[in-house]
Amino acid sequence: MIRFETIVEKVNRNHPGADVELLRRAYLFSAREHRGQIRKSGEPYLVHPLEVANILAELKLDPVCIATGLLHDIVEDTDTPLSTIEDYFGEEVAHLVDGLTKISKLDHASYEERQALNMRKMLLAIVDDVRVVLVKLADRLHNMRTLQYLPGEKRQRIAQETLDVYAPIAHRLGMSRVRGELEDLAFKYLEPQEYAKLKELVESRRARLEGFLEEIKQRISRMLAESDIKVEHIEGRIKRLYSIYNKLKRQRITIDQVYDLVAIRIITESVKDCYAALGVIHAEWKPIPTRFKDWIAIPRENLYQSLHTSVVGDGGQPFEVQIRTEDMHAMAEEGIAAHWKYKEGRRGSHTDEDEAFVWLKRLVEGQQELKDSREFLDSLKLDLYPKEVYCFTPKGKVMELPRGATPVDFAFIVHTEVGMKCAGAKANGRIVPLRYQVRNGDVIEIITSPNARPSRDWMNFVKTAKARSKIRHFLSESERTTAIEIGRKLFEKEAERFRLSARKILSNGELDQIAPDYGCARAEDLLAAIGYGKVIARSVIGKLLPPERAGEVELEKKPTLKQVVKRALGFQDRIRVKGIDDLMVYRARCCNPIRGEAIIGYITRGKGVAVHTANCPNASSLMVNPERIIEVEWMKSDSKDPAAFPITIKLVTEDRPGMVADVTQAIASVGTNMRDISATIDDEGHGLLILTAEIFDLKHLEKITGALKSVKGVIELERMSEQTVKS
Ligand code: MN
Repeated sequence: MIRFETIVEKVNRNHPGADVELLRRAYLFSAREHRGQIRKSGEPYLVHPLEVANILAELKLDPVCIATGLLHDIVEDTDTPLSTIEDYFGEEVAHLVDGLTKISKLDHASYEERQALNMRKMLLAIVDDVRVVLVKLADRLHNMRTLQYLPGEKRQRIAQETLDVYAPIAHRLGMSRVRGELEDLAFKYLEPQEYAKLKELVESRRARLEGFLEEIKQRISRMLAESDIKVEHIEGRIKRLYSIYNKLKRQRITIDQVYDLVAIRIITESVKDCYAALGVIHAEWKPIPTRFKDWIAIPRENLYQSLHTSVVGDGGQPFEVQIRTEDMHAMAEEGIAAHWKYKEGRRGSHTDEDEAFVWLKRLVEGQQELKDSREFLDSLKLDLYPKEVYCFTPKGKVMELPRGATPVDFAFIVHTEVGMKCAGAKANGRIVPLRYQVRNGDVIEIITSPNARPSRDWMNFVKTAKARSKIRHFLSESERTTAIEIGRKLFEKEAERFRLSARKILSNGELDQIAPDYGCARAEDLLAAIGYGKVIARSVIGKLLPPERAGEVELEKKPTLKQVVKRALGFQDRIRVKGIDDLMVYRARCCNPIRGEAIIGYITRGKGVAVHTANCPNASSLMVNPERIIEVEWMKSDSKDPAAFPITIKLVTEDRPGMVADVTQAIASVGTNMRDISATIDDEGHGLLILTAEIFDLKHLEKITGALKSVKGVIELERMSEQTVKS
């Protein structure tokens, strides 16, 4: 059991002349109030407030804060009212104890409610006096250290809560040491097997790594001395287990591939020496590109400052080097607690001197708006985490996303499969678009469908690297598959034209043999290249023809548009156009073809197959490259939910009242959705209506034009292409 005198010694050392009497009275009072109470560990209850006070003393906090640590459970666990605390210890201590009691009082049933409330209370407490949260973190840290005495279910819940609420708060307050210990302890109880496995992995390397660190430390020490760089101290460390665990999980690497598994910290006297030391390190060992970070010039949001670089040591062992000054080091380890110790003797509300904690100031300013707890949960806009938003799964698990992230990001974080099959999303029970930006406190639910698949459009709004890479991978895979398919068809078509057997050429390896001529490794790559429009199928045929027929390729005349269309209409095995913009097949904007119209496909370079109407004016210019024309056909639509195309129609009408209403009515009468309508008067005094309606196919379009033409006063009707709409 920790001795009270040990705590007093620490306070005296860190705060000479501090009010030790206050501590002594708090200690005696706590001992009296908790007398007879026993912890689950079997120890007297007093051990707990003493340990909490000791953690606070280690953080070099002021006597008021430490006294609060000694008294923090009294109002909650004994009959003593807050007024007694105030009478004995003054308003400041009472205020802090009150804050702690409020945080602990959580009688809400569901886990997510508790968490949201917990978070809110912590935030409010930070606004009020950050020391409340410092005591709370110390309280949680000691409870985590003694978690083994609690029953299993409770243990899990507390460990989870530590990971979800307390560790992030410690992180945000810059208290990396507390955060690290909280995370490792939670990890141990939440994933006991993974924890044990990883621990074993690290332990089996420990002796070697520590030897390595010691050697490097001495070498750096010598090098810096030779360069006249003033160093306070150098330390070495092995990365924390939870942090390694996350890295292995995220990057799918082995423990020996973790660049910062071991790290050296160089604490210098001045900023100038930080950069000088960096130069010495980079001159001695080869730095790993992309691993250098200058957080001195650009501090992190939680005010962390340091230079980071990773280098490869002798024998190929990579290690990280962190370089910072003494002040930066204190800030890195203890965060706001380090900052707080300079504010000794002052009341907790934050003044202009706290410039350093701009985000805390923002919190204070927002405080007035935080009266209602409901409102708070709706818009947890407090910038406690300026770069992250916190939302919930329907089961109440807290998920951390970067700011601006969307339900698609959320889906991929839940599980890759959920992301791949994501068809829609709800926020707080209401359907939202997939590009919706997740807000703090949202409950996000993903609607999946077995037929859903990632869309190219998602790349425009996803924020997380995970979603981005998974979607990109899917798109390039599926594009390649389609490109191979298209390439094969083009190749077969050309082979047929020259009376060659495509099947034979593919099976006897002939295509494999000539693939390298086009910079392709295999036949399949060559087919993909044809499909992407990079290689012309006819040129490949030219290489396959026997020498005596080589001239035929050049002799072949370019077909006319009419021939191509004719061929297109008569062709059996066509690329299928689903109607909606597909991954590889899309409807050309110039003519905007709809289902039922005669269409032809044109293989673009890298954008897939553009589908034009057979009579599109642009189609004739495509004849410059007739070999890139491909037959396409409309895929049979499932009658239940056929894809609709937006079609813009221009009407010239008499200028009479009620015209727009009649047109709208006519559109609705044939069961059509209208997206947009605008009305003006042209130079000749005619009404000019431009409307966009959702059309399923050619028949549908005919029905609409019929209905529109029968509206009294319609003079002229024209279907517009995108160019005419714009001009
Ligand atoms: Mn406690």
